[in-house]
Amino acid sequence: MSDQGPTVFKGRYELHRKLARGGMSDVYLARDQVLDRPVAVKVLFPEYAKDATFVERFRREAQAAAKLNQPNIVSVYDWGEELGTYFIAMEYIEGRSLSEIIRSDGAMPPRRVAEIGADVAAALGFAHRNGVVHRDVKPGNVMIETSGQVKVADFGIAQALTGPEQAQLTRAGSVMGTATYFSPEQAQGKQVDNRSDLYSLGCVLFEMLTTRPPFDGDSPVAIAYKHVQELAVPPSSMGIAVPAPLEAIVMKLLSKNPDNRYATAEDLRADLRRYLDGQPVTAAAVAAAAAAPLAATMAVPATGAPTGYVPPVDDYDAPRRRGSGVLIGILVLLLIALGVGLFYWGSNISKGGAKKQVTVPTVVNLPVDQATSLLTNAGFKVNVQQVPNDSKQAGIVFDQDPKGQSQADEGTVVTLSVSQGVGDAEVPNVVGQAESSALASLQNAGFVAISQQQADPTVAKGLVISQTPNGGAKQAKGTKVTIVVSTGKDAVEIPDVSGQTAANAANKLGQAGFKTSQKEEFSNDVPKGRVIRTDPAAGAKADPASTTVLLIVSSGPENTTTTPAPTTTTTKPATTTTKAPTTTTTKPASTTTTI
Ligand code: ATP
Ligand code: MG
Repeated sequence: MSDQGPTVFKGRYELHRKLARGGMSDVYLARDQVLDRPVAVKVLFPEYAKDATFVERFRREAQAAAKLNQPNIVSVYDWGEELGTYFIAMEYIEGRSLSEIIRSDGAMPPRRVAEIGADVAAALGFAHRNGVVHRDVKPGNVMIETSGQVKVADFGIAQALTGPEQAQLTRAGSVMGTATYFSPEQAQGKQVDNRSDLYSLGCVLFEMLTTRPPFDGDSPVAIAYKHVQELAVPPSSMGIAVPAPLEAIVMKLLSKNPDNRYATAEDLRADLRRYLDGQPVTAAAVAAAAAAPLAATMAVPATGAPTGYVPPVDDYDAPRRRGSGVLIGILVLLLIALGVGLFYWGSNISKGGAKKQVTVPTVVNLPVDQATSLLTNAGFKVNVQQVPNDSKQAGIVFDQDPKGQSQADEGTVVTLSVSQGVGDAEVPNVVGQAESSALASLQNAGFVAISQQQADPTVAKGLVISQTPNGGAKQAKGTKVTIVVSTGKDAVEIPDVSGQTAANAANKLGQAGFKTSQKEEFSNDVPKGRVIRTDPAAGAKADPASTTVLLIVSSGPENTTTTPAPTTTTTKPATTTTKAPTTTTTKPASTTTTI
């Protein structure tokens, strides 16, 4: 293919000049002589044209793409064969691709990134609804017109290169692109769906914000491994100022597990629009989004693969060999998909080696930092998942996979489930309840109940006077709730009523809040009918609400003949402990009388 001279394709497309050279094609500016308009003509490198199956797929995909009419999609007009190879005539885009823009202008402002992202999502959503998965979303395929209009190119064309007949493409011996924007499922040669495009778009947005793709490496294989294996570092952790909601969106797109990305391109577009409108986005915390359960996505369709685990990239070049079935499986799929020659495949496979088995330390119940350093020191990698947990404090590891004390290859990713703390609950209102039932209901609701005692003239002893926080408040479970429990009225000093008549004494004590009872005792000193002493004694402090003061009242000297017969008193006479209660059948204690 010459890049000069007025070549006319299909008797219609007049090639003017070469615009760019891509990984599998040259792109020319041409003129459609029939419609008299500029078109871009993409001419496949001839090596891609040698395989009949490929050509058929290419034609099918070009036709599928040709049906996609949407303002953010580069229209495909025509397809044909010329000069021993194949070409696509499409809408000519006057502008630059994102790859050129990033290369020359550097990082883009977050809002512009979101706007472009929303437009690409609109294009993807339209294609997905029409049954076309792009499969090759990357900066080179996103064009920005001089007007600012966003146009996505090359829909579905990658499918022609990665279908079931892909094995035959390895003969082509040239590298189609890199794995820089591959989704983990693409990197593993799995079936891809719409969400694979969302991951790739996440890589593009990441690069627009940071000028670097989330994963880079020396070879497509190394990069593909990282897509499967490593967590992207959020731009903010790289010191790049990216608004948190936008970062959350990007990191959600980069979830390893497609289920953790947006379900549809429209959902993504809506979230980007929310960010642009200053509304809360649905994308959650960055760490959680990126830390998709790796193991769950690791099943590799290769023989002899240990379940759930793909050795990390770094191990690939190490002189160790274990689980090489996985390595080979991935390599084969990757190299086929990438169109890399068998030479490369062979030379890399020979670098495989055995891995050391190490006992996994038990890190459950440790703070995540400590757990991470223990595991790292033991030669493991760590993947942290934040999970709400009712019974563990925030930041504490409550589960690990692989389990502690099991044997695992050095370099294995140990997934830690780290408590995010607990959810909120409504604090029960326990004011007025008895202390024990208040404590129980607070504890049952998930709070730590603490009780304090306080005298209160209006609240009966043992009942809750107040609580902090108040009933009805939403609080994180595990929060302390303090209840103040009444000890009844304040303790009061018992007045000295000795020498007073029993009636006056009872009156005075009654004014102080006490109930009284009385009993008689002989006394040589205290006249009959007057108080000898009290129990509790005068000066002692007691809670009037719960204390009955016993008045010990003189019944006069023991031997006085003028002493009236005991039967004249209202109480039983045999109140002394020195005489047998001959006149009564009741016990002395029962002679007290509550006034
Ligand atoms: P790869 O070949 O690896 O897929 P790529 O997408 O960059 O990478 P091409 O699709 O061949 O390669 O495109 C090469 C370049 O040609 C693009 O980056 C873009 O600058 C330019 N280009 C592609 N399509 C058009 C078009 N319709 N109008 C104008 N320029 C285009
Ligand atoms: Mg392209």
